[in-house]
Amino acid sequence: MSTSPPADPQTLAARWIRPEIRQLAAYHVPDARGLIKLDAMENPYPLPLQLLAPWQARLASAELNRYPDPAAATLVNTLTQVFAVPDGQRLLLGNGSDELIQLIMMSVLGPGRSVLAPEPSFSMYRMIAGFVGLAYHGVALNPKGFELDVDAMLAAIDRHQPAVVFLSYPNNPTGNLFDRDAVLQIVRRAPGLVVVDEAYHAFAGGASLLSDLPQHSNLLVLRTLSKMGLAGLRLGILAGAPPWLDQINKIRLPYNINVLTQLSAEFALQHYAVFRQQTDRICSDREALLTALRALPGLQVYPSQANFILFRTPRGRAPVLFAALKARGVLIKSLDGSHPQLHDCLRVTIGTPDENLTFIAALGQALDEPLDQPLDGAAVL
Ligand SMILES: *Cc1c(COP(=O)(O)O)cnc(C)c1O
Repeated sequence: MSTSPPADPQTLAARWIRPEIRQLAAYHVPDARGLIKLDAMENPYPLPLQLLAPWQARLASAELNRYPDPAAATLVNTLTQVFAVPDGQRLLLGNGSDELIQLIMMSVLGPGRSVLAPEPSFSMYRMIAGFVGLAYHGVALNPKGFELDVDAMLAAIDRHQPAVVFLSYPNNPTGNLFDRDAVLQIVRRAPGLVVVDEAYHAFAGGASLLSDLPQHSNLLVLRTLSKMGLAGLRLGILAGAPPWLDQINKIRLPYNINVLTQLSAEFALQHYAVFRQQTDRICSDREALLTALRALPGLQVYPSQANFILFRTPRGRAPVLFAALKARGVLIKSLDGSHPQLHDCLRVTIGTPDENLTFIAALGQALDEPLDQPLDGAAVL
């Protein structure tokens, strides 16, 4: 019998955890306590007061001692109607659309298999490919307006024969809506799946490929309730043809949508107009914020069809401006350094009108600060 002392957890983890996981940087969520939170594309509006009591009454009926309906059949029916899912198409629900992205990737995994996406786009496509063990190919967007470089995309598709292409429509973090014909060219050329990720559908003036599903046997459409006001529920929705969804469904863990989420989402969808009012409000506030940002000196402001705005600061100033905003109590997202095409770029989520005003005032002041001077309050960072 061995008498050597057991190895410490560090040594054991280094031996057994997969090397590609040990090399990953953990997904970092910044601490937003005490800050105006304009970093994560959340809807700034809570559930309206008059819905609070009926929602709580609904929750009081939840059977917490029972497992949830594994198929979430009631919720699926409601979603099918509210989203006008075409006849013959199926829905699969995930614990956020992140989980659905992971399930799609796990279901196509194998030697020589790869995932392809334009870049810069949603960072989770690359991250999840990395941790499920799929090769990932990024294809640069056209640097001018972040439009799809169709020739480059088609050439990369021909070369790599990817199992899945992910297109964020509108695109996160650039905010633009790709040209619809370009997307359809990619759908027609791709040998495998094309997942059109419509996380920002509520802000895109109705642009969608959902009604195109019946025409394209390799198309899937991804939606989420997160950006329209229910990020805390974690509910993602995948729409597509049964032969795809039936297979992907086999690797979904049976109770991935919990009882409280099923009840709350069902309730929220019965009051869909309330959320539409909020997202419409966010869209008109987006236009006001675009105008205000464009009036500030030295910024390049990109158009947006989402609930956030990407802008480029004068060269080299993004880190200081980001920190100056935080010192003034406003948390946004810095994309500087995350991708070559995003140097000097910051991204702000549309908040309430008051939050947007605070942000613009703080940014205006920060832009006025003399360069190379330490900020008041820099110690707070
Ligand atoms: C936010 C986001 C998601 C993830 O949404 P969840 O449903 O909250 O997991 C998916 N795709 C894109 C492009 C996003 O920006």
